[in-house]
Amino acid sequence: MFPGRVLLKNRMIIGLAFGLTVMLTVWMAACGRPSPSEHAFTFETMGTVASCQLTLPPDLSANQAEAMVRETFAEVNTTLSTWLPNSEISRLSRAAADSAVTVSPLLRTCLLTSQQLHEKSAGAFDPTAESLMRLWGFYRRQGRLPGQAALDSALADLGQWHMEGQPGRVIKDKPGTQFDLGGIAKGLAVDLAAGRLRKAGVQNGLIDLGGNLYCLGGAPGRENWRVGIRNPNNRNELFASVTVTEASVATSGSYERFVDIDGRRYGHIMNPATGHPAEGLLSATVIAEDGILADGLSTTLFVLGPVKAQLFLSKYYPQVEAVLVAPAQTGKMATVWATKGLRGRLSLQPGFEKQYQVIFKEK
Ligand code: ADP
Ligand code: MG
Repeated sequence: MFPGRVLLKNRMIIGLAFGLTVMLTVWMAACGRPSPSEHAFTFETMGTVASCQLTLPPDLSANQAEAMVRETFAEVNTTLSTWLPNSEISRLSRAAADSAVTVSPLLRTCLLTSQQLHEKSAGAFDPTAESLMRLWGFYRRQGRLPGQAALDSALADLGQWHMEGQPGRVIKDKPGTQFDLGGIAKGLAVDLAAGRLRKAGVQNGLIDLGGNLYCLGGAPGRENWRVGIRNPNNRNELFASVTVTEASVATSGSYERFVDIDGRRYGHIMNPATGHPAEGLLSATVIAEDGILADGLSTTLFVLGPVKAQLFLSKYYPQVEAVLVAPAQTGKMATVWATKGLRGRLSLQPGFEKQYQVIFKEK
């Protein structure tokens, strides 16, 4: 789902708010005056904030580049937002059971990747978690503890759909099955934007759509980008950073969107195995070669929890890097599980060594 404006967020900052600004300022000072080829802009879209920092080639104006990104995100929103009654995904959710619906290439890409993640994760990633999101009150933005009968009924609506034929029609097997692509759509959107910018000649740039990042090349004067990861215990600060180039970064965390019920906080990522919000991790960050995978996988790993997430990655996605933050056991430090490929790339921010213990694991 793409939440409304009240829940605006920008989960993982790079240094965009501070670091980048600082970095840019330093860079500009070195050059004497701002380079006309640098263009940074921020706008609201898809229920969140998009921020871009691009180095423009001579034949691409700032207006053209900005329009390219804005139109891309608007197109994805119009197609995939659960919040728009006439989006393609909302119409598919309303379709009668057993009727074959031809879907657009954008929606098909999203559903195919979702299906693969669903199968490989034994159902942890589920593009039909809509029934659970609704049940727990995430669409009304008011939490409600579900009774067992309602929980059973929502669980029975999960996953009752399939695709058939080429190029692929979607068929719901139960009328109650509805889609929520909030766990994957922003990743697809940054891929599309990055692809279009690259085609227009942009070699260095950063696209951040509500914490789903795509890093083209490097920051001005650098070969890569240094991406900050939010402290899941205090989302206003970064606890670590990682260097990234030509890849996407996405983080899932229950601290991003939640409801409070009877004094307890419940996060917005559902565990289809229990019907309850997933609780095994504080956050899951994924670095993958494209955004759709980084976004989909961050949600999947969050649901799987620390142990299953590591097994799942080594079995199906050995090329993907991840940072999993597990809650602290009483009296101990929180554990950060990072894949071995991040050695030398992942570093804790000063002062966080006392709170977080980083363990690099073989994939
Ligand atoms: P964010 O929406 O903050 O970017 P995620 O990428 O982790 O975070 O996606 C969480 C969203 O995914 C939820 O708000 C909901 O729309 C959807 N969702 C919830 N549970 C699941 C699940 N088990 N599988 C797939 N999508 C889910
Ligand atoms: Mg996700």
